[in-house]
Amino acid sequence: MKITRIAVYQVDLPLDKPYWLSGGRLKFEKLDSTIVSIETDQGITGWGEGCPWGVTYLPAFAGGIRAGIAELAPALLGQDPCHLDQINHSMDTALPGHLYIKSALDIACWDILGKAANLPLYTLLGGRYSSHVVLQNSVSTGTPDEMLAIVRSGRAKGYTVHTVKIGADVGLDIERIHTLLADLQPHESITFDVNRAWLPDQAIMVMNTINNARPYFEQPCETLEECRTVRQFTRQPIILDECIQSFESLLLAQRTQTAQGIGLKIGRVGGLTKAKRMRDFCVSTGMRMNIEETGASQIGDTAAIHLAIATPETHRHASWDCSALHSVVTADGGYIREDGKATLSDKPGLGIEPRLEILGQAVAVYS
Ligand code: MG
Repeated sequence: MKITRIAVYQVDLPLDKPYWLSGGRLKFEKLDSTIVSIETDQGITGWGEGCPWGVTYLPAFAGGIRAGIAELAPALLGQDPCHLDQINHSMDTALPGHLYIKSALDIACWDILGKAANLPLYTLLGGRYSSHVVLQNSVSTGTPDEMLAIVRSGRAKGYTVHTVKIGADVGLDIERIHTLLADLQPHESITFDVNRAWLPDQAIMVMNTINNARPYFEQPCETLEECRTVRQFTRQPIILDECIQSFESLLLAQRTQTAQGIGLKIGRVGGLTKAKRMRDFCVSTGMRMNIEETGASQIGDTAAIHLAIATPETHRHASWDCSALHSVVTADGGYIREDGKATLSDKPGLGIEPRLEILGQAVAVYS
């Protein structure tokens, strides 16, 4: 099988409500998603998506994906999309680094592989471990009462895992944490995601106010070294998210015992091929994962749910689904969100059917 054509689409994803990241320093109103189709000489088409979480979250931006695909497309045309490791080797040779640019192309090739094999992606990624994937209730930052209302609203919808954005103001953060911990139900889990907003001294002060509760803290500080300092002087499990940009950074986080869990974001680490390698390493070394996209509509989120459901439940925490924050439907047939859980069909590949009227005209075509 050979790749004959790559088409690139741009879709705006306006969020239903503005989303405030930790510390209130970042406000998001819209995401800019890039969706790609890869066509082959055997009539099979695969779909993928890449969507950074705004421009300030990571060293990644939407225009970069589209510019990068222009560089990568000539290296992929004529190649067999089912040879995923080779496809990734070609992309890494043609354009070293820039992992986030490659994810949509990698996902589209996995979709082709699944359709060619007549198997759902989760089978090819390791096999289905459970009927569903637990989803996160994503809580934007605000006053303690505003955040409590979002937690309770998520609880009423069936969510049992809450991921709460805090950071920057130590006094207010302590108030937020203790308000939410007091309301936490025995069967629930809560993560306080700082998104790098604290310095180590602030993280140590805040985390050491907690005695008998069992929250996770996510990405307390900017760098791995700062987070490692926090690890040495605190007791709660730490999840690293923004720091985990590649297999190498995962290796360092594990070797230095900085994190007990990671955010495995498909888009950030370069797609399903590289995320699967990291997933396997985490399973082998006892690290828990939130397997999810960086930002996405149904196409990207469905890819992440396939990898999550093919991962032992013992090593999963919960997946964030960006599609819950916006109403733009780019595809049918993907994962279904219900009662705080995601389920998948057993259709081949991603199992999605893109809505061409939403994608509009391709902004670039390579053939
Ligand atoms: Mg995070």
